Amino acid sequence: MQTEFIQKLNQLLDKSKKIVIFPHKNPDGDALGSTLALSRFLIKKGHQCHVISPNEYPSFLGWLPDQEKILRYSENTNECNLIIQSADIAFTLDFNSLGRIGSMSEVVKELNVPIVMIDHHQAPEEYAKLKYSDTTIGSTCEMVYNVLAAIDKKAIDVEIAQCIYTGIMTDSGSFRFSSTSSKTHRIVAELLDLGVNHALIHQKIYDSYRFERLQLLGITLKKLTRIDNLPVVYTYLTQEELDSCDFKKGDTEGFVNYGLSLEYVKLAVILIENKQEKIIKMSFRSKDNFDVNTFARNYFNGGGHFNAAGGISNESMEKTIILFREAIIKNSSLF
Ligand code: 5GP
Ligand code: MN
Repeated sequence: MQTEFIQKLNQLLDKSKKIVIFPHKNPDGDALGSTLALSRFLIKKGHQCHVISPNEYPSFLGWLPDQEKILRYSENTNECNLIIQSADIAFTLDFNSLGRIGSMSEVVKELNVPIVMIDHHQAPEEYAKLKYSDTTIGSTCEMVYNVLAAIDKKAIDVEIAQCIYTGIMTDSGSFRFSSTSSKTHRIVAELLDLGVNHALIHQKIYDSYRFERLQLLGITLKKLTRIDNLPVVYTYLTQEELDSCDFKKGDTEGFVNYGLSLEYVKLAVILIENKQEKIIKMSFRSKDNFDVNTFARNYFNGGGHFNAAGGISNESMEKTIILFREAIIKNSSLF
């Protein structure tokens, strides 16, 4: 933990400030957990805080402490713009490139106040005055724990602990990804001592799906396709298929991991059509030494981590699949 970062952050927070905190677009458990934990902590320290999400978040996160106070930029743009423009400090959590907050980036780019980044993705942009960026840590929630514990450990209450636990659990694949460290487990032990009910949180996130979501998973798995002679599988969902299963935000979370559960597979990909935004959203997951962050950056305007990344295509589904297959064959020596 960088002491210089904490010193400078403490200086920024020396008296009561108006603070805005942003998770990335389509926020996941880590993005929402980290922003809500930080916000609750800073409010306890006497600051005014707003968490502003670029858009809606999945219903399986709709129980997180204080989530009812989150503002959605896509729905209350004018109100959010006023709050952002009158802030003294902005925090960007769980992303490091302003493109990840969509159209909200326009107003954030114009800000003349300090921006603080806390994030664990590769290749941070240079927009932040103060930066805690560490790609070796499995979740932004773990980083936020480090920050809060360094400022005032006693102010971490059970609600903050629940938020932090959620992000650590979801981003670590329930503690199985290689970035999960002994330090992660020590932090989790502290969170349990604060009263976190880990079994209940797991149930709320992973055992609370709708029937249609499982049917959608069935469609996805049935279409899983292999690429000849390479350890690669991919699948895709069209808007029509999503609609047929009454798609709700978050329904496809985790689908891409099923391909990776095959023994020989080193890269699994899912392509999901979004007719409204006229894009194909892609998720990449890998095992071992195939770097999906670089692959997504080079071919699909994306990025992320070494073994988990995302990207976007503006082409049709058919064309995107062709482009994807071509890119894989070009890179076949990397497997
Ligand atoms: P997911 O596939 O779950 O959407 O994202 C996997 C990882 O890649 C996450 O850490 C996410 O923040 C990152 N990611 C997803 N989509 C994009 C994207 O379009 N651009 C960048 N730079 N990162 C992404
Ligand atoms: Mn994360």
